[in-house]
Amino acid sequence: MKVLKFGGTSVGTAERMRAVAGLIQAPTGQRIVVLSAMSGTTNALVNIAKLLYEGDTRAGTLQIEVLRQHYHIVTKELLPDEDTVAEGLKLVDESFKSIFNLTRQPLGAAGEKVILAQGELLSTRLFHLYLTRVRGERAVLLPALEFMRLDQNEEPDAAYIREHLAAQLDQYPEEQLFITQGYICRNVQGHIDNLKRGGSDYSASLIGAAAGAEEIQIWTDIDGLHNNDPRVVEDTYPIRELSFDEAAELAYFGAKILHPSSVLPAREHGIPVRLLNTMQPEAPGTLISAHTGEEAIKAVAAKDGLTAIRIKSSRMLLAYGFLRSIFDVFEKFRTPIDMITTSEVAVSLTIDDASRLPEILEELRSFGTVEVDHDLTIICLVGNLVQEQHGAAGQVFDTLRNVPLRMISYGGSPNNISILINTADKRRTLLALNEGLFRRATAAL
Ligand code: ASP
Ligand code: MG
Repeated sequence: MKVLKFGGTSVGTAERMRAVAGLIQAPTGQRIVVLSAMSGTTNALVNIAKLLYEGDTRAGTLQIEVLRQHYHIVTKELLPDEDTVAEGLKLVDESFKSIFNLTRQPLGAAGEKVILAQGELLSTRLFHLYLTRVRGERAVLLPALEFMRLDQNEEPDAAYIREHLAAQLDQYPEEQLFITQGYICRNVQGHIDNLKRGGSDYSASLIGAAAGAEEIQIWTDIDGLHNNDPRVVEDTYPIRELSFDEAAELAYFGAKILHPSSVLPAREHGIPVRLLNTMQPEAPGTLISAHTGEEAIKAVAAKDGLTAIRIKSSRMLLAYGFLRSIFDVFEKFRTPIDMITTSEVAVSLTIDDASRLPEILEELRSFGTVEVDHDLTIICLVGNLVQEQHGAAGQVFDTLRNVPLRMISYGGSPNNISILINTADKRRTLLALNEGLFRRATAAL
């Protein structure tokens, strides 16, 4: 079994959908194809839900109609003749009917989830119709809502997913090709929910783990994870091989092409994840597996919008339990910590979500003096730093000798060095690292 996931831009137009139909022919054997919503659709649905939630039914209804018209055009572009177009429009209008139905009463959280689910339902229904009716292929549309499930902690329920996916697949022992929705699921009460924005990658990995797949392919519009941020640095290149841990760090710290949680189920089951490019299918992309290459530093990523908090306290000196009391404050306000460094009398840490900052600061002040800095960026360097005999850390700091560094974290994992800088210095930091680490490395080849 192979799992192939296609992102929003990969199914963003009728033409792209046709291309995907071609790409899923290459692997032989059983395949589960996981689709995102067509690009722009989830954003449009979020906007519709927001208008309805705010009680602006007129604007909400108008936006629903605009999106419905867009899908009518896509359907006519995708399907060749009157009969299949009529079938396609019927499917499209079913989805829109369930959205229109929600305009009659004030929208709650449950209704919002139903609206957000329509994007993946639309893309998979249209794609399945095209495959079977136009291309004459055999393919089964698997309803993700029958097997994707969250537990009481709002985390995917792996046991439930495994059992219910198997029950679905068992109904079609002869079939080779299955199409299903990414992103959408049910919660522990059985109501429609989702895996949060960008969650289709996570769906693919969960499905791969549940089906015991031999490979999970994530198809996007870029040729794999790059060694540096292509928006800032010109001559970046795709990294051929990454370990699961390296990929998880990169995905979390800025590389936008992969949902950070999506590496976890694959890692747990040792299933290789291949990142491939729909626009350039022959390119090798990036292979994520248990294996890591030799290079000391493979890639750099940047994550903006961080806040640093420094707590200075004489009570910390020679005391135990101090860190726990500080962590308790962050736990109480459900705020994850990204980076942490300590000295004997002070702790510095960073958070990404500053929505509870005022409450957090108020409690922290009972421990000592508290300082806060905003507009910070974590630069995350990823590679094989297990035996630090390459002198990689020295090279990094040498390269950054002119950049003010706010925090440094090294040794937390054998794959990572994290550095906190002012966001204003991000561009020159990424360029300097490129010059110092990668240019030098490529020049030596
Ligand atoms: N359609 C969802 C989103 O735009 C999920 C995904 O594409 O991964 O966030
Ligand atoms: Mg995505």
